[in-house]
Amino acid sequence: MKFLVMLLGLVLGSVLTGYAVPRVRVQLAFEPATRAFTCRYTFALPAGDTTSVLRLNLNKNFRVQRVQSGWGVAQMRRLYYPFFADTMQQVVVRYPAGRRARTLTLVYAGILGQERTTAQVLEFSGHSNWLPFRPLSEFEVVEYTLAVRVPAGYQVRSTRPPRRTRPGSYEFEGQASAIELTAIIAPQFQQVVARTGAAVSVVKAGAALGPTEAAILPKAQDIVAFYNRTIGRQDSISRFTVLLTGTQQDAFGLLDNATVITYVSPDFDLSQREDLLILAHEISHKWWGYGSVHDESDWLNEAFATYSSMLYLQAKGDTAGYRQNYTKLAKTTANTPPIIGFDRMKYEPGMYRRVIYNKGMTVLAALHTRVGTAQLYSILARTAAQRVGTTQAFLDVVGQVAGPDSRAWLLARLSE
Ligand SMILES: [Zn+2]
Repeated sequence: MKFLVMLLGLVLGSVLTGYAVPRVRVQLAFEPATRAFTCRYTFALPAGDTTSVLRLNLNKNFRVQRVQSGWGVAQMRRLYYPFFADTMQQVVVRYPAGRRARTLTLVYAGILGQERTTAQVLEFSGHSNWLPFRPLSEFEVVEYTLAVRVPAGYQVRSTRPPRRTRPGSYEFEGQASAIELTAIIAPQFQQVVARTGAAVSVVKAGAALGPTEAAILPKAQDIVAFYNRTIGRQDSISRFTVLLTGTQQDAFGLLDNATVITYVSPDFDLSQREDLLILAHEISHKWWGYGSVHDESDWLNEAFATYSSMLYLQAKGDTAGYRQNYTKLAKTTANTPPIIGFDRMKYEPGMYRRVIYNKGMTVLAALHTRVGTAQLYSILARTAAQRVGTTQAFLDVVGQVAGPDSRAWLLARLSE
């Protein structure tokens, strides 16, 4: 019976993802006036995963109230986590050998960062540092359920519609990166939804959408349709959500067919080319999110998203905009180290963007010139569909589509 259950788990996992991934269950409750929240978080390794030591990093300011590690032995410690440039607390669980299930439940309490709230909105998002994650695996794909309990007068929106709502509670489920489970909480939301094509919606926490915010919908529809024809044509999407939170911090794309844009009018205005590029960049991260952010592989996320946004401009006939952006970014790449082997820790912080975003973009532009638009889209579509996460695997795709000479040429470009 255990074998059958395991097999079923594997089959379900592979139907959803092509491979078995960890399962995460989150129960969130909060107090709007104080921003205080409690979270019950369960991380379960896939059936048959016999990892002997499981580590979860957690925000050092949270108070861990309970640790349940089944038959594993848990320890807590603190350590410096360079990627966040901060100390974190870490739960370490050692499991004896064997094939029994490996799960870890943490109950913790914290205060949501002030910068991720407004008078009306609480933003539990991929940038709120509210969830545990395995070290160096913030963006590993997990299957999740997220249950949010809300006091009277509050609502929740996420990257997708709820699986279930009951008075005072919302439940979501799906797949996302480990730290990107999203619950935007506010007394009211306004939204506009596309009537044709993919189910694109723009959801704003709080007051009604102003004209510049309503203008996001047709642009997002156009961008999604463009990507579905090009980079995403082997893995096209039928829904996409733009979440506007008003916390005025940043914009970031999510694997789960959504982007969080914390800016509202007048700080985000798609009549400005720069903001249009941001929207197109973030939407493309639905396809570009599988390279590790801890080494050179991050160019497979950031350079690809940057170049995708420029391809959108070009396709819309804004070749001047494409060239202007190319020149602006290319200028920063003089005297930079190669992409292959790039280690951000060896350089000042600005070098990361110059190499991983900008130099990577110039390499893709050069590849575009070399192989032509039709072949470039074949390469990008295959890369996206295969969820390519290493430079080596990308070189192989280029070799398959454009031949060994182009592969060798690309390897040289990435090495200079
Ligand atoms: Zn990006």
